[in-house]
Amino acid sequence: MTEERVCRRCLLFESGRGDVLEDIRIRIEKLSEKERAKSEIYEERLGICAGCEFLADGTCLKCGCYPEFRAAFAKNRCPNCKW
Ligand code: SF4
Repeated sequence: MTEERVCRRCLLFESGRGDVLEDIRIRIEKLSEKERAKSEIYEERLGICAGCEFLADGTCLKCGCYPEFRAAFAKNRCPNCKW
């Protein structure tokens, strides 16, 4: 039996879950400009998530979301007040 490895502090693009990431990209593209966070804000948020102790295997353990999706919404906030 092989042991499943959890990638700590990995976003989806690093954890080999490209299928989920592609679905997220399609959903983000459907957001209006008003709904969507500006790209520099999005990248800044993901940089914070990448160093966060609550990130595991592309998922935020604080809220159960995918940060790559949550961070794409202008109005969203980090559940742990990091962004
Ligand atoms: S959303 Fe907040 S708590 Fe969750 S991984 Fe990102 S920085 Fe950490």
